[in-house]
Amino acid sequence: MMKKECIFCKIINHEASARIEYEDKDVIAFWDINPSAPTHVLVAPKKHIKSINELENKDIISKMMFTAKKIAKAKKIAQSGYRLVINTGPWSGQIVDHLHLHLL
Ligand code: AMP
Ligand code: ZN
Repeated sequence: MMKKECIFCKIINHEASARIEYEDKDVIAFWDINPSAPTHVLVAPKKHIKSINELENKDIISKMMFTAKKIAKAKKIAQSGYRLVINTGPWSGQIVDHLHLHLL
């Protein structure tokens, strides 16, 4: 479930600090430590999944997307607009090997 050396698993376990915006039993959303936009929140599954490539079904990705949409609304950027980005693998620039969706 959790991966010892994974920074996002540590955040999920509250072993590393983060500005948590939302969490429930399946997902967590917290602010990016090095923001690329005034709102830059990462939405990740609580279960350690390396990337989209390791997904076994559509459930968690759907939940992550819907969570991002709710946060965009709560942060009042739903109308002005936002991007949802998922990097997958080294050539995409994925640096944290725990699946996450950027809300920018
Ligand atoms: P990616 O390139 O998609 O793997 O993006 C990883 C993102 O995680 C980057 O935007 C980092 O700034 C962010 N990040 C890395 N470590 C932390 C952390 N401890 N807390 C919050 N965000 C982090
Ligand atoms: Zn992890």
